[in-house]
Order: sequence, then structure tokens, then C-alpha cells
Amino acid sequence: MNDKIKIVLKSGKDQSVRRLHPWVFSGAIKKIYGDPAEGALVHVYDNKDELLATGHYQIGSIAVRILAFKDIDTDEDFWFDRFKSAYNLRLQAGLAESSETNVYRLINAEGDNLPGLIIDYYNGNIVIQVHSIGIYRNLDSITTALKKLYGSKLLSIYDKSETTIPFKAEIEGKNRSLFGEANGAIILENNLKFKVDWTEGQKTGFFIDQRENRLLLEKYSKDRKVLNMFCYTGAFSVYAIRGGAELVNSVDSSAKAIDLVNENITMNFPEANHTSYAVDAFNFLEEIKDKYDLIILDPPAFAKHQNVLHNAIQGYKRLNQKALEQIKNGGILFTFSCSQVVSRENFRKSVFAAAANTGRKVQILHQLSQPADHPVSIYHPEGEYLKGLVLHVE
Ligand code: SAH
Repeated sequence: MNDKIKIVLKSGKDQSVRRLHPWVFSGAIKKIYGDPAEGALVHVYDNKDELLATGHYQIGSIAVRILAFKDIDTDEDFWFDRFKSAYNLRLQAGLAESSETNVYRLINAEGDNLPGLIIDYYNGNIVIQVHSIGIYRNLDSITTALKKLYGSKLLSIYDKSETTIPFKAEIEGKNRSLFGEANGAIILENNLKFKVDWTEGQKTGFFIDQRENRLLLEKYSKDRKVLNMFCYTGAFSVYAIRGGAELVNSVDSSAKAIDLVNENITMNFPEANHTSYAVDAFNFLEEIKDKYDLIILDPPAFAKHQNVLHNAIQGYKRLNQKALEQIKNGGILFTFSCSQVVSRENFRKSVFAAAANTGRKVQILHQLSQPADHPVSIYHPEGEYLKGLVLHVE
């Protein structure tokens, strides 16, 4: 316990830590006793010398990411215990060991009490995305714990942190295999097959967080003309086809993504009435008047930081207005935001403003979120990033 550097908070600045929020901002710190290396395990004290937490130190606005609200050490048992409880939650949610779905998020950072760490499971393969130096320095123990958890089921572990670890840190951080050789896999989600390529693909390879929303979309797809905007791997399109859509069009500006869409459609429904377009979404939306009666809008995060929040809200408004103006009478719009800084309320307001400009009758049928393998700590509401609305438009 005594080997850790002590960080003392200013008077009153202990409140958020006492409310179990996992971040200590640099402005809350009164004194650091020593010179902690980036990523070092440190102790957080209030200004009356009471130990509040143990966490990873980092230079930047979030100075400490808390791993436990007591003294701990991050040995292999620590990682294994955290992974085991996360695994048990996925088991309860019907995801781990399911015969219909073999892709899920095992660790969702703060939502699983491990700030800075994302671990996705793809049919025996694991892809790790690290967002903090402290986690990065523990990748060996993390690999060992994952091997222990999955045993012979584990085929590979890939570290895809090159673009997510803080660039200021003095570490190499290239994407690399930590175990095994695989760079892609065919996975099963609700009995549909998808090709995932984590070395070349976006994020860890697949947008796992839309699983339940895709299943809902399937139910609305029968006999509809479906437009899947920002489609990436075309997962929503594949569900729409299974749901009995009359035709499906998929749009993404990335040609690589469109290649993947075509493979995924062929793998599941080679006879489907489907066409994909590698074009810009905003251009495509210029001329679709009355062509579609089910539209999906799942754009990339429009705001990564608070300071561009206003632009993001305007962006959502513009995009949704284009779809709401042109969707057929009786149409259904699935619209999403994955920007962490855009609150559910702000997103809804921007869609409201878009609807109001069209003057059409719009009803909210569903309010969507992220699934159980992307849990949100109640003490860290920032973790609720995925917001969606299903609208009926007349
Ligand atoms: N709906 C997808 C995930 C979407 S991720 C799924 O279920 O898997 C956002 C996608 O938007 C990315 O594939 C990205 O290539 C694409 N994109 C970003 N900007 C775009 C633009 N201006 N026009 C079309 N696609 C765009």
C-alpha cells in the first residue's frame, strides 16, 4: 500500500469521488507527493488524509481514472476477477455461450469498472482497445487473465489501440497481435453471419452496440422499401432483408465498407433485392422524395468534444430534416446518435426541431439505447452514449 504515490484533493473536491464517479480532474488536485510516471497506480486522499481510491494516473484533464474506491493492487487476480464478473453478466444477458450470437462486448470501460479498457469478443477472438496509459502498461496481465478466462476457446487476442491511446504518452502503441494470428472472423449475430476484419475495419471491427436495435428494425421491415444510411458493414440491411423488406439500399462513403456490405448480403441472402452506394450521405439524401418508407440514420459521432456540441446538434437537425421531409407517408425512421457529449434530451430536441420544420405528423414509437453488454455505471452517466428514436411519420 505504501509504494503508491499519494494524490491529495482540494477541500470539497472529494465529493464526486465519494459519489463513486470514476474520474479525478486535474483541477481537483491540491498536491501530488512525488512524481508519478504516466499510467502509475496512485492513491487518492481527501485533504484530511482519508484514503478514497486507487487509480491510474495520467497527465491531462482527467488526472486519475479510478479502479477501486479502496486500496488495491492490479495483479493477475484483479484482472481475472473483473473479467469473470463481466463475463457472468454477459452470460445472464444471454450473450456469452449463446448458439445464435457469438459476438459481444466483454468490457465496457467505466460501465464495467475498468476505465480506459474496451474488450470485444468475436467468436473466440478478442480485440482490445485501450484509452489510457495505465491500462496499456497492464496488457501482459490482461492477456494472461483473458487466457485463463476463456481457456481453449480463445483463438486470438489483438491490440487495436494505435489510434486510441493518448498520443502524448511515451509508448510505441502500434496495433499488434498479443496471442494467435487471426485478423478477422465470420461471426454470428442473432443467427445472421457477418464478416469482421478488425485489422482493417473501423473501431474493433463491428458495431456490436446496435444488436437489439437491428432486431427491432427487422420487425418493421416487412414489405417496406428500406434505406440504410451510414451502413458500414450493412448489418441493419441484412436484418431488413430477413424481415421481408421489398428492397434495401445501403449507403456509406467508405468504399471498403461497401465491399463488406456486399459480402455480408451475399453470405446471408444472395437473392435479395439490394443495392449499395459508396457515396456521401448528405448528397444521397438530396433526392429521395417518396422513394423509401423505412430509413435508418446511424451517422458517426458528430461531436467528440463539448466545444463542438452546437455544430453537432445542428448536424443532427439537418440530417433528420432531410429524411423527415422525404420519407413516404406512413414511413418509419430509425434515427441514432452515438456522440457521448450529445445528451438524450439534446438529441431529441434536434430531431424535434427537424420535425417541426417539416410540419409533418411525427410520433415517437421507441426510445432506444445500448444493450446490456454496454452497461452504464449509474455513477458515470457519461457512459450512456447511444441514443435512438423510432418515429412514425405521416
Ligand atoms: N450503422 C452501422 C454503423 C455506422 S458507423 C452499423 O450498424 O454497423 C458510421 C458510418 O458512417 C461509417 O461506416 C462511416 O464510413 C460512414 N460515414 C461517415 N461519414 C459519412 C458520410 N458523410 N456519408 C456517408 N457515410 C459516412
